[in-house]
Amino acid sequence: MLLSDVRIPVALQLVLDDVGWMYGRDERWENYPSRTGMPRRHVLEDYVAINEVGRAINMKIHATFVIGEWDKWGVLRKVPNSNPFGENWNGSPHLNVAEAEKIRDYINGSEYIEIALHGLLHDYWYNGVNIGGREYEQPEGNVKGGKGIRVSNDYLRTHLDAFMEIYNNWGFTKPIRSFCCPGGAGTAWKDDEFSSVLKEYGIKYWCNGGIDRCRVSNGIIINPKAVPFLPWEAYDINPAKLETLNPETSGIISGHWPCLLRYDPELNLERVGDWKKYFQRQANVFGHILPRDIAFTSHQQLYRYFAKLSEHGDMIKLDLTKADEAYPNKQPVYISVKDGAAPTQCIGGVISEYEKMEGFINYKIDRTATSIIYIK
Ligand SMILES: [Zn+2]
Repeated sequence: MLLSDVRIPVALQLVLDDVGWMYGRDERWENYPSRTGMPRRHVLEDYVAINEVGRAINMKIHATFVIGEWDKWGVLRKVPNSNPFGENWNGSPHLNVAEAEKIRDYINGSEYIEIALHGLLHDYWYNGVNIGGREYEQPEGNVKGGKGIRVSNDYLRTHLDAFMEIYNNWGFTKPIRSFCCPGGAGTAWKDDEFSSVLKEYGIKYWCNGGIDRCRVSNGIIINPKAVPFLPWEAYDINPAKLETLNPETSGIISGHWPCLLRYDPELNLERVGDWKKYFQRQANVFGHILPRDIAFTSHQQLYRYFAKLSEHGDMIKLDLTKADEAYPNKQPVYISVKDGAAPTQCIGGVISEYEKMEGFINYKIDRTATSIIYIK
């Protein structure tokens, strides 16, 4: 086996931001939220679309959830800078309770939707004016365009508490283990302050735009969204026309809810087969793998970033020392091996065929105690 026959593939996790809005239109010009940019209400069929694309590609789609329009109790009244009306917030004008109940039941029972914590109403309000697109960042001088100042830990807690209060009051049952800052990560990911608060809420994985490398902070694996994908408010997409990604630059796919949706929600499922073909096309590129969920993705990303492959006599050495230093555990590692170079021996782990692709095979290595694995 040559070094060129082996790769640690990058996990193409599909992330859809801003799931949860009741209404899609971007109304920042009226000091309301940015939402999904889609000029119609969001309905149950829009969640079915996520789940069915997930089922087609056997991946739990990472849906970063905005929950403010689910507020029927006036929770946001007590949350600073969270809404256009401040303490006079009367609950969301866009909430249709009967429809929301159907959506909640569907999400709770869905196999392929993973809910991640995103925000309340996504943006930052000051005296009724929407002055910024990052809920956890205060524009300097409280004016639009002001340099972003990271909010205090207590401020952050009031927002995360409100999110969990609305989530739990509604009876959502999926545990939340991952996070995404609205509007990009800013500087929040660079030190261990912000993550120390996220840890209190059980967050284990964090992926965002505006991050340039994988890092671990307070036991949370932080990853960049690598593939910009499509304009944020684009919908009615034909996936057959989208490019094949390059494994040198690809990674977590920064999608947005509308990209799977149609203007007419009755047509949402029409292109599920085309989405399946799109992801199969990506998966058949040597260097890509389709992950099952954000945990698979985060660990594989950690290995891809920190592990080192080298030749060692007639064996390939997979050195996971740096990955294990950053995040001590023994999660499986996936490797891709070109056809004709099938491994016959593995020291330091148990190797098994995971899936056969075009021209290569993905293998799963269940690790034993060591950080160094040899493959022949
Ligand atoms: Zn967002």
